[in-house]
Amino acid sequence: MPESSAPLIRFEGVTKRFADGTVAVGRLDLDVREHELLTLVGPSGSGKSTLLRMVNRLVEPTGGRVLLDGADVAGQDPVRLRRGIGYVIQNVGLFPHRTVAQNVATVPGLLEWDRRRTDERVSELLTMVGLDPAVYGRRYPHELSGGQRQRVGVARALAANPRVLLMDEPFGAVDPEGRRALQTEFRRIHDELGTTVLLVTHDIDEAVLLGDRVAVLSQGGRLEQVDAPVTVLTRPATPFVETFIGDSSVRLLSLARLGAQDVTPSAADAARSAPAVRLGDPLDRAFSALTASPEGVVPVVGADGGTVGALTLSGFHAALRRAAAAAAERR
Ligand code: ADP
Repeated sequence: MPESSAPLIRFEGVTKRFADGTVAVGRLDLDVREHELLTLVGPSGSGKSTLLRMVNRLVEPTGGRVLLDGADVAGQDPVRLRRGIGYVIQNVGLFPHRTVAQNVATVPGLLEWDRRRTDERVSELLTMVGLDPAVYGRRYPHELSGGQRQRVGVARALAANPRVLLMDEPFGAVDPEGRRALQTEFRRIHDELGTTVLLVTHDIDEAVLLGDRVAVLSQGGRLEQVDAPVTVLTRPATPFVETFIGDSSVRLLSLARLGAQDVTPSAADAARSAPAVRLGDPLDRAFSALTASPEGVVPVVGADGGTVGALTLSGFHAALRRAAAAAAERR
């Protein structure tokens, strides 16, 4: 994934007060960095969808500004704006009388891509989301499972290579088993494409599994915390966040164990001075050791006490993702 910290989307003191007086989002400041996958998580009614929908102007703010690549979206033609922004919602809303291939080709069609380029792109995307284009391209949405329809929704949203992808509970309607597969695959797709993604979910485990960073919202569209998943779980910034994550952090950090796949063998030398952690240690122990190490790297020993490598923050994140995936599977 390309590294960059420039904000691609910036919410600047954004407020949305609906006509009936409901404040859905209250003076919120938030940056979404280019190439990151930022999850917006919070209970129902905390303004997540409203915030998301202000990016593509399905909702207009009543205060503040939403900047896309530095330009206020309020000054942009909504139709053109939306062509450059992928949008995936629960139950996708595929066109029922168009085939899967035609659905995926929607935006390239609007952009008047030629036939060959469009066909190639459709095949590439269906393959990427795990659907054989030769088999599924000619099917109609009603001939697919819920999970397959959601895959087509993702392919359609990515078709014209948007810089931004907005996803509103994209996996919410998929059965738990299919959801788990979709989450893992989507994370892989994101790592591959580096599209900037803003994803809404009410599920803290999903937020932690998918997000490079997690933004936690409470009622009134108040931003409680925005941080890396591990920080949200281990250092909740407010009592609200602490309650909202509930036993999620305990479950993840004390039940999950450090595995060989999380260890970087080549980093062992850098970690000589710190006290070691052991393969199989609970993640909360590994995390304490990691935060206590000035270099942010700790040696890892195997069952026989021999050094097998080192744990870095990115290894820890990988371990946390596995743990979140396992937690999602158990539910
Ligand atoms: P979330 O996505 O976190 O569930 P929403 O953004 O959908 O929350 O809604 C935030 C708040 O705004 C809720 O109280 C909701 O009832 C209210 N709301 C959403 N849309 C409208 C609307 N069109 N008119 C009035 N209130 C609305």
